[in-house]
Amino acid sequence: MSTNPFNNRYHDLGPGFYQSIKPTPVQSPELIIYNQELATALGLDETVLNSSANTAVFSGNQLPNGGEPLAMAYSGHQFGHFNPNLGDGRAILLGQIHDPQGRLLDIHLKGTGQTAFSRNGDGRAALGPVLREYLVSEAMAKLGIPTTRALAAVTTGEEVARDQLLPGGIITRVASSFVRIGTFEHFLARNDMDSIKRLADYVIEHHYPQTKQAENPYLDLLDVVVEGQASLIAQWMQLGFIHGVMNTDNMSITCETIDYGPCAFMDHYAHNRVYSSIDHHGRYAYNNQPNIGLWNLSRFAECLLHLIDDNQDSAVEVAQHRLEAYISIYQKHWLSGMRNKLGLSTEQSEDKQLAEDLLDLMARDQVDFTLTFYYLSLLDKDASNDDSLLALFDDAASITAWLDQWRQRLNKEASQDVERQHRMHAINPVYIPRNHLIESAIRAAEDQGDYSVFHTLHEVLQNPFELQPGKEIYMQPPQPDEVVHQTFCGT
Ligand code: AMP
Ligand code: MG
Repeated sequence: MSTNPFNNRYHDLGPGFYQSIKPTPVQSPELIIYNQELATALGLDETVLNSSANTAVFSGNQLPNGGEPLAMAYSGHQFGHFNPNLGDGRAILLGQIHDPQGRLLDIHLKGTGQTAFSRNGDGRAALGPVLREYLVSEAMAKLGIPTTRALAAVTTGEEVARDQLLPGGIITRVASSFVRIGTFEHFLARNDMDSIKRLADYVIEHHYPQTKQAENPYLDLLDVVVEGQASLIAQWMQLGFIHGVMNTDNMSITCETIDYGPCAFMDHYAHNRVYSSIDHHGRYAYNNQPNIGLWNLSRFAECLLHLIDDNQDSAVEVAQHRLEAYISIYQKHWLSGMRNKLGLSTEQSEDKQLAEDLLDLMARDQVDFTLTFYYLSLLDKDASNDDSLLALFDDAASITAWLDQWRQRLNKEASQDVERQHRMHAINPVYIPRNHLIESAIRAAEDQGDYSVFHTLHEVLQNPFELQPGKEIYMQPPQPDEVVHQTFCGT
């Protein structure tokens, strides 16, 4: 697959960090999709596109030289409860590469068979969740959100038993790192402080080398992860994205969106929207995501305490202080992002209220999140073309009053319509991976072996900010009978 040699620095950390294991071969793999653009950007060889060699690598049937495949050990808090025994139960770190910019990247296969961490699971993935992760993670990348990337997806030619027998699939994903908050917790739970230090040093060395210069690199590590998670979650909020299962084992230490399970983009807005079938109490509801970010970071801080200061009281005090900064850092990211969404290029004290008022009106009338901001981006300073936006709302008077406020606010800055609309269109997408569209792509693939629906949707999502002629259907919210009310983790 590669002219870019595989290696594996994670392997150097030693046996307590992983199980050395190869993927279990599958019967008759077939390539569904290969991400040529990403492969090129990563310096992976292009000449074998769609060839049997690629299919063999992306199904785990053939190993790249030097990868030293392994299943990573981790633990984690799932819905607030600590589980000491998680780990890659159905995934394998195939190896690492350095991209042309010299960044170390993890190449992971998901759905590769049992490992020491599989517990009662079969180690496999069904095709549906593989297609779902491919579509959503690549859409996230094109929307500009830090995320794992999808490099390839294959069918295995084997069936997996869930509620029913389903076709099996394997996804190849690429991340800066698959180290999670839960990886640190794994060693804290075992009182293995030496391994926490080795892990922290590994993360600093490969992902945050700038923190090495700091007076207290481990405190700096906490700071950069606090900053990165606050920024990431603010970006989710600005696109109506609900991760769905923000357990600490699904939170990346390099602050990318990882582990796409029951995630969803919101259609009709509600502050506390939940899609995941297993999130019974709304712990991971849309508006709870920022709080959960802090909760998860607090678990991370606990793992670093002994590295921050020998005196535990002092360590707690200083870590507490850094965690408290999260709220204002998050607010800062959220507000600057919302200003951008509203087309504001200066800061005024009323901006937060203006943004919140719009969300309240959207909630009251259950208006589509994405279309609201897209139509807003089309409006001029005079009210000559408000109709498309007004039509989304039941209560025309309230949104008209809000638009008056918005225009008064716009008049406080010098921007021109065309320039402002241009800015707004660059961040308010036309297309998101809507749940009902993903569902229809999966249905066609699973039920009829027809991948054209998947490919067309994927193609549209490559350019989420550009109106594409003939693709109007992809920007529309679901019809009442198409609404997806629940999403599943598909494990
Ligand atoms: P996830 O819901 O994907 O974040 O997975 C949570 C934990 O369950 C991880 O340790 C996974 O490796 C494990 N897991 C999920 N599905 C399977 C499966 N089919 N076989 C083995 N382990 C699994
Ligand atoms: Mg996970």
